[in-house]
Amino acid sequence: MIYISRAVPGLGYQDLRDIMSKSEVNNSHVGLTGLLCFGNGLFLQILEGSRLAISQTYHRILQDPRHHSAEIIVFEPVLHREFVQWSMKLVQIDENSPEKMRRLYWKYSGEVDFAPQTMTPAQCLQFMLEIDPARSLAKV
Ligand code: FAD
Repeated sequence: MIYISRAVPGLGYQDLRDIMSKSEVNNSHVGLTGLLCFGNGLFLQILEGSRLAISQTYHRILQDPRHHSAEIIVFEPVLHREFVQWSMKLVQIDENSPEKMRRLYWKYSGEVDFAPQTMTPAQCLQFMLEIDPARSLAKV
C-alpha cells in the first residue's frame, strides 16, 4: 500500500522520532516493511506485508492526530517486497534539498518541491526506490 497524508502544523522532529520508534517495533511484530517520507508538510508511506497486517496498521494510522487527510494511492498485491531492510525507515526530505533531490521531484512529479499528491502509483514507488537509503545513499 502507498498513501499520502498531511502533517498537522507544528509537527516536529521529536514527533517523527516517536512515530518511527513505534512503527519499527509494531511493524516488525506483524511482518511489515516499508519507507516513510516526510517533507513539505506531507507524508508519503509505503507499507509491504500481508493484507491483514497492512489493513490493521493503516486503520490505526488513520486515527493518529499527528496527521490528517490521508489518501490511498494504491493498495494491490505485489510479487515481492522492495524494502526488506526496513520494518520502517524515515526519509526526511529537507526543505533545502540538494539539487539531486530537486531533480527527483522534477523527474517524478513535474514539480520543483516534494509533491507526492501529483504522482501516480508507479511514480511514487520509483521515487521511493531512488531515495531508499539502502540503495541510494551515495546517489542522493
Ligand atoms: P500507543 O503508542 O500506545 O498510542 C495510543 C494512541 O495514542 C494511538 O491512537 C496513537 O495514535 C496516539 N498517540 C501516541 N503517541 C502520540 C503523540 N505523541 N501524539 C498524539 N497522539 C499520539 N504505526 C505503526 O505501527 N506502523 C507504521 O508504519 C506507522 N506509520 C505511521 C505513519 C504516519 C504518517 C503517522 C502519523 C503515524 C504512523 N504510525 C505507525 C503510528 C500510528 O499512527 C500509531 O500512533 C501507532 O501505531 C500506535 O501504536 P500503539 O498501538 O502501540 O499505541
